[in-house]
Amino acid sequence: MAKRLYSAAKLGNLELSNRIVMAPMGLGYADKGNVSERVLEFFRQRAKGQPGLIVVGGTQVDPKRYTNSAGLHCFDEKYIPGLKSLIDMVHEESGGKTKIFFQFLHHGRYSKQKDIGGVEAAAPSAVPSPYTKFEVPHALTKEEIKEIVGFYGNAARIAKEAGVDGIEICTNSGYLIGQFFSPVTNLREDEYGGSFENRMRFYFEVVDSMRDAVGSDLAITTRLGGTDLIPGSNTLEDVVEIAKAISDCGKIDGLSITGGWHESSVPQVTMEMPWEAFSYLGRTIKDNVDIPVMMSNRLGIEAAEKYVEMGALDFAVFARAFLADPDFAKKASEGKYDEIRYCIGCNQKCLDRLLTGRGIVGCLANVSCGLECDYINDEKVLPDKALSNKKENILVIGAGPSGMEFARIASARGHKVNIWDNKDKAGGTMIYAAMPPRRKDISLLTNYLENVCKKQGVEFTFSKEAKADEIIKLCSEGKYDRVVIATGTKQAKINIPTEEGADVVMALDVLSGKALTGRKVLVCGGGAVGTQTALKLAEEGTPSAEAIRSFMIFGMDEPDKLKELMNKGVKEVSISGGKIGKGLGPGTKFSMMERIGQLGVKKYKGTHVAEIKKDGVVLKDEEGNTSFAEADTVVLALGAEPNDDLYKSLENKIENLHLIGNAKEGGHITDAMETAYDLAIGI
Ligand code: SF4
Repeated sequence: MAKRLYSAAKLGNLELSNRIVMAPMGLGYADKGNVSERVLEFFRQRAKGQPGLIVVGGTQVDPKRYTNSAGLHCFDEKYIPGLKSLIDMVHEESGGKTKIFFQFLHHGRYSKQKDIGGVEAAAPSAVPSPYTKFEVPHALTKEEIKEIVGFYGNAARIAKEAGVDGIEICTNSGYLIGQFFSPVTNLREDEYGGSFENRMRFYFEVVDSMRDAVGSDLAITTRLGGTDLIPGSNTLEDVVEIAKAISDCGKIDGLSITGGWHESSVPQVTMEMPWEAFSYLGRTIKDNVDIPVMMSNRLGIEAAEKYVEMGALDFAVFARAFLADPDFAKKASEGKYDEIRYCIGCNQKCLDRLLTGRGIVGCLANVSCGLECDYINDEKVLPDKALSNKKENILVIGAGPSGMEFARIASARGHKVNIWDNKDKAGGTMIYAAMPPRRKDISLLTNYLENVCKKQGVEFTFSKEAKADEIIKLCSEGKYDRVVIATGTKQAKINIPTEEGADVVMALDVLSGKALTGRKVLVCGGGAVGTQTALKLAEEGTPSAEAIRSFMIFGMDEPDKLKELMNKGVKEVSISGGKIGKGLGPGTKFSMMERIGQLGVKKYKGTHVAEIKKDGVVLKDEEGNTSFAEADTVVLALGAEPNDDLYKSLENKIENLHLIGNAKEGGHITDAMETAYDLAIGI
């Protein structure tokens, strides 16, 4: 019998073909608020994967305080043709199986004045936010509140006219309506502030305005944070009361529960947070309301199936899963779990880009994400799914992410691919990247690449040292038409005066457990590898998650004492470097640096290593001043350089020879994936 998650269900009067929902996301693909080719082609690929519902995020309702970059505009009739083209396309591409909602978003105090045409951000009270670097917003007058309420109704009318299947009202993550809900940001003394009823008033006026505009037939849902995760703001207990009031009003068809506010210091969507960790929020709310409940935030497909099956949740909502794999819902419904390209929670091309404004939202695991309109062919098919008109035998050297990404696409396009790797397993440097604490989800990507490559007939030969002579011979015999070198990086040359007898080890050997260290350790190198190595060392000796669970269950000690234990490792760890945490994206750096601080790791910032002694390291700062950092063991994490030796020895000796990934330029895994993709789609 089909699992319930993949069966039809009702949301108000609307029937969805399955219970997987693509969550609203801030993408920044709109063209001055209009539906652009980028928007259309992004959603086309997701509609082909047939989730029950796609919610288009960030749809703006306020004609006085909108941004051109954030999302679609829905406050003027002139936008209707574009919105309609998006709605019709989703219906058509999904064969009628996918419905589409717009999520109505008002940023409130989360807007910066410069982004909304120079007007002050609107808020219930003049309470600034760290999210906008503490710009003070304008406290809305009652007249302005009424006007914004009217904007929601107007936007609902426009959306209905465009043919949308439903609307989701955003109250989550610290945006305007949530700012009215919260006693921290709503300090008003009129009928919109103070008591619970007063803080809910703005929301219910918005709902009435929208219902007046569209009637009772169109589905309207509400997205709600299960807890704000802000000191003094709404907790789960408070949100249960909010959810009950929404459910009881009889005008809302479902609740979509997510996590806390954007300005919360609690990491919510990084790989540090275990899968399913937040599912209790949705389940608790489901137990208290009479309308369907959806849940998101690192839910995971297994938890989604489990909780929907038992009725603890009605729908499962996934966001970045759809960035990583547009066919996520379809593959899951067919039980092809090992063919799903899972989101690994790295945030590097999605959240980090949103936060820094550098580049459009994409996905490290899925090179074409956000670039669909640049890559698709005339039949609207992505090139990694289109057959090549040639059929070549290709040898790839290196089973890291770039080698396997190349092999995945080349084999899907009809080529025969063999991969050699000198290690005994696939993954390349990603093997090490998955070793620091709470980074194991990185291996989801390498597992996916290996599984899919094998399914598509790629042959792996492990523990195979690639020799130039052998490769030249095989090519001259016609065994291979093309050779792709994806040998990644190697340790950068280090030339530091070192006293005989000093205990010096490499960071990758520490991560893999090959090298042991003394009690007092200095990690030299403040980049991502150095920082993660310092974290791993500093956590040694702290109780495991399972130990803490047992301690709490059996009441071993007070929570504060247990927290102390979690912050007390067995080693004394320091780290030195120009910048500590360099190379980590903002979405992960914040929490990692906080954890390093909790563990008492000593930082020698703005220094480089001048000399290594038996009992420590001489460090030099930018002015040439020296200091001494004591250490029993010195761990070197001083960078890597392209490993292109094999390529150089084959250059001009083989006709079709390519260098890809970090073997070409060093750098980052995102570059490695991109060079592999771009080469493979052209062969
Ligand atoms: Fe997930 Fe990373 Fe892709 Fe973002 S960039 S969707 S976190 S895999």
